[in-house]
Amino acid sequence: MNLVLLGPPGAGKGTQANLLETERSLVKLSTGDMLRAAVAAGTELGRKAGDIMERGQLVPDDIVIGLIAERLDAGGKGKGFILDGFPRTIAQAEALDRLLAERGKKLDVVIKMQVDDDPLVKRIAGRFTCADCGEGYHDAFKTPKVPDVCDRCGSTQFVRRRDDTEEVVRSRLEAYHAQTEPLIDYYRTQGKLKCVDGMAEIGAVHRAIGRALDGVKLKSGKTPG
Ligand code: AMP
Repeated sequence: MNLVLLGPPGAGKGTQANLLETERSLVKLSTGDMLRAAVAAGTELGRKAGDIMERGQLVPDDIVIGLIAERLDAGGKGKGFILDGFPRTIAQAEALDRLLAERGKKLDVVIKMQVDDDPLVKRIAGRFTCADCGEGYHDAFKTPKVPDVCDRCGSTQFVRRRDDTEEVVRSRLEAYHAQTEPLIDYYRTQGKLKCVDGMAEIGAVHRAIGRALDGVKLKSGKTPG
């Protein structure tokens, strides 16, 4: 099954993608993670993208489309992929349809995570992740069970994103409303859109996404490949 998680920054796409990856043997493809890795590695692409990311704007379509094309070509051991943070513009969505068609694949479902703007700034400003496995945490909503030790891998190293400040989050929200929200109609027209309440707690959102994905399976009578 190939799916897209769609929603504003802070909606919990990364958290839900991590849960689905393990549970359903899917491969998570996050353009945000790929870009942050390029920035950390100091590659030319990373230098181009870094400043744009720190302003909370979208990096050019050709860069992220190129990153996704490479990953689709590299394949994966999973039973499909979860796209987290891609596509973010109509041009990216059209490119994705093309890239998949060229490879004899298709997108099965797009899960839209509904979240109001106001709580997002609070959600994002308190979040941090394990530096080793990427597990997500939050100062107020999800602290590690043992203080300063990752629940998932035992690491004691944690990182906060440079673009998780209130000012940058507001720019990221603006970019979402102006450039990414049109994808809702794009995928509704394709009959692929399913909506879940992203305001609920992590486990409840995960179960709602699970029901939406199982609904896709039932409709076609088999697990989409
Ligand atoms: P994310 O981790 O998905 O919130 O992405 C962090 C930042 O990376 C965004 O604010 C953008 O600057 C950039 N970015 C990630 N994915 C994309 C994309 N599909 N298109 C354009 N910019 C992106």
